[in-house]
Amino acid sequence: MNTLYSCPTCGSNQFKPFLKSKDYFLSQEEFNIVQCLGCGLKFTNPRPIDSMLGEYYKSQDYISHSNTKRGLVPTLYQWIRNYTLGSKEKLLNSYVSRGTLLDYGCGSGHFLAHCQKRGWKVHGIEPDNGAREIAKSQTERVYKSKEELLENSPNTQFSAISLWHVLEHLPNLTSVMDFLKAALEKEGVLFVALPNPLSYDACHYKTHWAAYDLPRHLYHFEKESLSRFFQQSGFALVAVKPMYFDSFYVSLLSEKYLHGKTRFLPAIWSGLLSNLKAIRSGQYSSLIYVFRKVK
Ligand SMILES: [Zn+2]
Repeated sequence: MNTLYSCPTCGSNQFKPFLKSKDYFLSQEEFNIVQCLGCGLKFTNPRPIDSMLGEYYKSQDYISHSNTKRGLVPTLYQWIRNYTLGSKEKLLNSYVSRGTLLDYGCGSGHFLAHCQKRGWKVHGIEPDNGAREIAKSQTERVYKSKEELLENSPNTQFSAISLWHVLEHLPNLTSVMDFLKAALEKEGVLFVALPNPLSYDACHYKTHWAAYDLPRHLYHFEKESLSRFFQQSGFALVAVKPMYFDSFYVSLLSEKYLHGKTRFLPAIWSGLLSNLKAIRSGQYSSLIYVFRKVK
C-alpha cells in the first residue's frame, strides 16, 4: 500500500479521517478516505501502489469498460450512456466550435466515435487494453497513455479535452495537470465529470455510496477543492452542469452494496429525491465542471 503524507493537490500534510469503507465491487478490502485540512480535498489514503491499481479493475462487471449486456443495471447503464452521448456533445458545442477533441480515458470510444461522425478531429487515451482495442476499431488515434500520445502526435493542441469520470482514477494528478495545460490550446475548454460527495445520495448511503468506488476512486472532489486546484494551474471555472441519470445508477448500485441485492424502488426514490433536492442546492449526484484555460 502507498501512504500519502502530503495532499495530492495542495501539498499540506495535515489531514483528518473522513470515512472508512470498502471495495464492495471486487476485493472487499477496507480503505480510508481522509480530508486535507489545507484545501478540503478528500482522498483515499492509503491506496494501492500504482502498479497494483490495475488489479482492482479486473472484473467482467466493470461496465464502464465492457459492452456485455447482462442484467438490469448494465442494460440500463448502456441505454443511458447512448442517450447521454448526444447531450455531452451538445455541451461541447456550446463552448467550442468544432475542432480537435481529446477524450482522456475514452473507454471503448463511444464518445469519440459520436463526435468524429459530427466533424470533430478526435484523439483518445485509454490504459485498458481490451477497451482500447474496441476504441481503435472505431477511430485510429487512440493511445495507451499521455506519453504515447505525445510520442505520436507531439505538436497536437486540442480545442477541447474531456475527462468523463476519469480524473478521480488517475494516480499522478500533478503530471496530469501539466499535460492538460500543455495539450490544450489557449482559451481551450476542459470538461471534467465527477461524482459529488455532497449530493443527497452520498449523504443517504454514507459508507455504502457506490460512487466512493474504493480504491478505484483515489479522490472525492467537491466543487471547492476541485476549482481551487484548477485555478492554481491557470484554469477558470466557467460552468457546473448536472448529470441527471447518475443519481439513479449510483443509488441502484448502493442499494446492492447495502442490502446485498438490487432494490429497484428504493433506488429510484433515492435517485429522484437526489435530483429534486439538487434543484435548490446544485449538489447533483454527478457534476460536469467546465474550465477554460486562461493562462
Ligand atoms: Zn490539500
